[in-house]
Amino acid sequence: MSVINKVYETNGPEETMRTGRMLGESAAPGQVYALVGDLGVGKTVFTKGFAEGLGIEEPVNSPTFTILQIYEEGRLPLYHFDVYRIEEPEEMEEIGLDEYIDGDGVCLIEWAGRIEELLPEDVIVVFIEKDLEKGLDYRRITVRQR
Ligand code: ADP
Ligand code: MG
Repeated sequence: MSVINKVYETNGPEETMRTGRMLGESAAPGQVYALVGDLGVGKTVFTKGFAEGLGIEEPVNSPTFTILQIYEEGRLPLYHFDVYRIEEPEEMEEIGLDEYIDGDGVCLIEWAGRIEELLPEDVIVVFIEKDLEKGLDYRRITVRQR
């Protein structure tokens, strides 16, 4: 039973956390998750749940200024990127994106659309969107492996 290639609907941050936790629990070494969606849609909330699912207990926040935060206490290493501030793909090379992508941990990249051309072919896209007709707290989370 795969948790990938599914659409999840949530009605609050706790439910998005739970969805993230479920995906984190079944994450496999070497996977790259691209989190796509507008500011405030829930990418970091999803990541907090995902980290919990990997068994990470320390608090997780968007690495907006540091671009990358590494968590090594879980079942697999988690490389949490927030590439909102990246202007040139070369900046990601300096950070060493390729080594993390090719490594045995799991990469989770907020604002991944900004570095589209650097993502691996088999990236798992987590697309989060609102639908205001369904309420302020509604989110549709589409998970699809490319
Ligand atoms: P992003 O990282 O995408 O910019 P955050 O995860 O930091 O966004 O923030 C999402 C905000 O939306 C939080 O304040 C959260 O409480 C709120 N929220 C409301 N409903 C949901 C939901 N269903 N899923 C996730 N977050 C939600
Ligand atoms: Mg964020």
